[in-house]
Amino acid sequence: MRIVLLGAPGSGKGTQSALLVKAYGVPQISTGDLLREERAKGTELGLRAKAAMDAGKLVDDATVLGMIRERLSRPDAVKGFILDGFPRNLVQAEALEKMLADMRTPLEAVVLLNLDLKTLFKRLTGRRICENCNQVFNIYTSPPGMLAEKCGGKPHRLIQRDDDKEEVIGKRLDVYEAQTKPLIDHYRAAGLLRVVDADADMNTVFKNIQKALETPAGG
Ligand code: AMP
Repeated sequence: MRIVLLGAPGSGKGTQSALLVKAYGVPQISTGDLLREERAKGTELGLRAKAAMDAGKLVDDATVLGMIRERLSRPDAVKGFILDGFPRNLVQAEALEKMLADMRTPLEAVVLLNLDLKTLFKRLTGRRICENCNQVFNIYTSPPGMLAEKCGGKPHRLIQRDDDKEEVIGKRLDVYEAQTKPLIDHYRAAGLLRVVDADADMNTVFKNIQKALETPAGG
C-alpha cells in the first residue's frame, strides 16, 4: 500500500493512519510528527522549523523534502507507506512524484478526508495528546471510556499542542485553503483521488476509507 492521506488539519489523518498501520502493516510517515521529534531532540532542523510551526505556517520545502527522502529510504518503507500531512503544496507533490518514479514505486491512491470548516475548528480546539504515549483524544468527541483508559498503569497526561490553540488554528486552516487544497484537483487529474466523508466516528470513517480503496478512482 502506497497512499497519501489528504485533508485539512483536524480531519482525522493521524487517527486514520494509526488504524491503517494496524490493518495493513505499513508505516505511517507524518511530516508533522517527524518535525516534532526533531524539535524535541533540539536538532538544528528542529530549531529551524520552530518559528514556522508555532505560527501555523508551512516549514520550507527543502527541509521537509530532505526529511521525506531520508524516511522513504529506510527499509520499512519498502513494503509501502501512509503519508500523513505530506505533501502540503504542489512543489512537494511534484517532488514526491519524482522521488517515487526514481524508486519505481508510484503512489496507488490519494484519500481525501472531507470535512466542513466548522467541524474542523471544533475538532482542533478539542484535540488533546497524552504526553506519555502520544495517543490522540478529543474532549468533545472521544468516547468517555477512551478518556478514562490508562497508559503504563497511570491516567493519561493530556496536553494541548501549541499549534492547536485557537489563535494559531485559523492560520493553519488558511494555509490549507491556499496551499494544500489545490492538491485535490492535482490528484483528481492524475486519476488517484478518492473522496471519503470524514464526518463520522473513527471506525465508520475507517470503513469508508477501506471501501474507497477497493473501488476505482473517480470520487
Ligand atoms: P501536522 O501535525 O501535520 O498538523 O503539522 C504540524 C506543523 O508542522 C504544520 O502546521 C507545519 O508547520 C509543519 N508541517 C507538517 N508537515 C509539513 C509539510 N509537509 N510541509 C511543511 N510544513 C509541514
